[in-house]
Amino acid sequence: MSNLKVAVQKSGRLSEDSLKLFKECGIKFNNGAKKLKAQSSNFPIEFLFLRDDDIPGYVEDGIADIGIVGQNVQDEYQKEVDVVKHLGFSKCRLSLAVPREVDYSGIQYFEGKNLATSYPTILKNYLKDQGVNAEVHMISGSVEIAPGIGLAEGICDIVSSGSTLLSNGLKEVETVMKSEAVMVAYKQMSDDKKALLDQLIFRINSVLEGKNNKYVLLNAPNASLDRIIDLLPGMRSPTVLPLAQEGWSSIHSVINEDDFWGNIEKLREAGAEGILVVPIEKMIQ
Ligand code: ATP
Ligand code: MG
Repeated sequence: MSNLKVAVQKSGRLSEDSLKLFKECGIKFNNGAKKLKAQSSNFPIEFLFLRDDDIPGYVEDGIADIGIVGQNVQDEYQKEVDVVKHLGFSKCRLSLAVPREVDYSGIQYFEGKNLATSYPTILKNYLKDQGVNAEVHMISGSVEIAPGIGLAEGICDIVSSGSTLLSNGLKEVETVMKSEAVMVAYKQMSDDKKALLDQLIFRINSVLEGKNNKYVLLNAPNASLDRIIDLLPGMRSPTVLPLAQEGWSSIHSVINEDDFWGNIEKLREAGAEGILVVPIEKMIQ
């Protein structure tokens, strides 16, 4: 059977989490330093290690069947590929920033100004939507120094914590887009390869679902059982087991990461005690 060719970033902010995801899916491979390719020993997958900017193009042409890139890179190059999965890592945003001392009043501030960015397509579209005419200058790196050297009055760049902006005397004023790592796929994949991709996505879903949920075990007096069961729908319904102590039960269920602490508080109010929370490696609905 032919291999599914997967393009991942060679070295950068996406690399480690991309490879970790494949490992968590049970796909084994050796990626020695500086290697450009790697073959899995237990799944028909071959990895190609590339610069992230090149990945959408390789996938559009079918040189790679699938690839992992930031949504920002996909949106910038606008290659003809299918976005098949949002992966939940490398979360960041593309933002407009100006020197700290600027008295920023709103997006119209940028009218007639010069902006530096590595994402000219995304930025031009955004400015057009906002009805702002500004001059967009493409620079491929170190965008945050542009205002300091007189190249531009503002920048549009990737932000996660904002500390890089801060250390360059800039402040974030508008969010242009939110981004996370996505899996893109070649549009004309053979049926064989589509079947492999389906298997891979099934595994990825079970890993991501597992990360999104926790296994919860708790004790409660039987009089509280109904309230607690209402709070813990679980995958089908919670497991209820009698404790050795008369009148008490142990309840096991799955609980979502969203509003986790709020739900734990409600369980405590309903009479739960001895609450144990355990990570889930994989979850298959
Ligand atoms: P390459 O050498 O492969 O071209 P690069 O320097 O263009 O790499 P990186 O800085 O490694 O790219 O970022 C890759 C992607 O990771 C970005 O396109 C973005 O989606 C995401 N990213 C960038 N910076 C951050 C950050 N600070 N936090 C989270 N995700 C980020
Ligand atoms: Mg790049």
